[in-house]
Amino acid sequence: MPADSSPGYPPELSPEEERYLVTNVKDWSIAHGLAVRPAPSFVESSQDPAGVLATTAPVTLFPSLFPHTCFEQGLAIQKAYNELYSAIARDEEWLQEIVKELIEIDDFVGKLWQTHLAVKEAGYVQDLSLGLFRSDYMVHSDSSGSGTSLGLKQVEFNTIASSFGGLSSQVSNLHKYLLTVDAYPPSATAIIKPDSLRQSNSTSSLAQGLAVAHKAYGQSRTGRTLCVLFVVQEPERNVFDQRHLEYALLEESGVCSFRLPFHQTLLHTKLESDRTLLYSPPNSPSYLYEVTTVYFRAGYSPDDYPKEEDWRARLHLEKSRAIKCPSILTHLAGCKKVQQVLATPHSPHLKRFLSDDGVASHVLATFAPIYPLDDSEAGKEAIRLATHPETANRYVLKPQREGGGNNTYRKAIPQFLKDLPQTHWPAYILMEMIEPPPLRNIIFRNGEVQRGGVICELGVYGVCLWRNGSGKNAPGEVLHNWEAGYLLRTKGDQSEEGGVAAGFGAVDSCCLV
Ligand code: ADP
Ligand code: MG
Ligand code: MG
Repeated sequence: MPADSSPGYPPELSPEEERYLVTNVKDWSIAHGLAVRPAPSFVESSQDPAGVLATTAPVTLFPSLFPHTCFEQGLAIQKAYNELYSAIARDEEWLQEIVKELIEIDDFVGKLWQTHLAVKEAGYVQDLSLGLFRSDYMVHSDSSGSGTSLGLKQVEFNTIASSFGGLSSQVSNLHKYLLTVDAYPPSATAIIKPDSLRQSNSTSSLAQGLAVAHKAYGQSRTGRTLCVLFVVQEPERNVFDQRHLEYALLEESGVCSFRLPFHQTLLHTKLESDRTLLYSPPNSPSYLYEVTTVYFRAGYSPDDYPKEEDWRARLHLEKSRAIKCPSILTHLAGCKKVQQVLATPHSPHLKRFLSDDGVASHVLATFAPIYPLDDSEAGKEAIRLATHPETANRYVLKPQREGGGNNTYRKAIPQFLKDLPQTHWPAYILMEMIEPPPLRNIIFRNGEVQRGGVICELGVYGVCLWRNGSGKNAPGEVLHNWEAGYLLRTKGDQSEEGGVAAGFGAVDSCCLV
């Protein structure tokens, strides 16, 4: 870039220019399903008792400027990341070492591990696993060498419920449309050229991932119609993001899918004696479908398991013959602790999973420094850094959780740790804050226009279908592996968190510079 080289971007808009732009965004978004259900705080339930209302998803009015080389770097490395995480998910012994440290102090991770052990005891009957992954990055400017170089640093790797693939394709279409209808003033179109806008094909590409799993499942064992099951939260504001995948799966691959609220799992599904998973839709309970693939868009948060019955539901699905996206071991591979262990300098771990040195070095280049908070040498140093406000200011503290809103940032870390029994500290990792170069944009959320400094987070989707194998005589293998488009999320630079669904960010697309 660097970002400062485009100080006039996005340009000032006259009231007429802003009105024209916003009108186009509002109408195009609803017409194309770039939408979410309104927040309860936004619409009183008495105004929408039937829950029919939808509103525009938070979006940026302009595509954010993003360095071309970093974008290509993120896309190019995705297949290696898919391979890495599928190999981790296949290595129970290695994962157990990691999880061992956590199970005593983190109930949620403990429950997931116990669920895996219970399935193992009964015997896994499905050898295939599907990953719809998303690797998240920020641009990092490194001024340690001669001059400043830009590179991507990984924020985290998501193995479960990687969201916004459906809306991401739509926002790149929106920005292209705005360019086409001259909604951008001339000073902006000097920068936003048609070939600098990058289309994300994530909807279609992720749906194809579900389709290959569905096909790989094979013939129906019961003679019933085959389907894919989306296991979801309820209520779900981000429902259209998921619907885009369902509709693409049907329209592009002819595969029928159903939405099952996670807490209704035991009510609407059952296992045959050979553990084939059957689903009965609530509208015709006597009709049964055979489930080929369970796609979890729920189950990643302790909040999804308010009752013991919910853990029985997870076990029930995991035991089934359906292909899981993700399997429980793949879910566990996404723990932030795994990311920290991989990032340990000079560790043998990356080499264990990526045999090609060249590939491993490209992956390694995307790791930011991450430390454990345990009694290892690195852990002691990290504890020293994290317990003093001046040094803690460069870090973020993360538990083994997903979905946003779980981290503690910078100066708040020492007090947070003070309030936490020291025996629980190893359940967290300490990560250096990535500090991207300054950028500006305009976010349109809940009908309001917010202009200012922003921070962008690039997510790259990956699809991977693999066979787990069973030991030396039948080793596992990757059957399909591709990069599946991208997501750009943009938040105001005053907010540490970036989640769109959590209410902090907006969906965006890349204008490569
Ligand atoms: P989650 O799984 O809950 O999404 P993340 O690790 O992605 O957890 O953290 C949530 C948000 O916190 C990110 O989207 C990003 O905005 C911010 N964040 C996390 N790690 C870093 C980091 N190392 N540097 C800067 N921001 C970070
Ligand atoms: Mg995550
Ligand atoms: Mg995240």
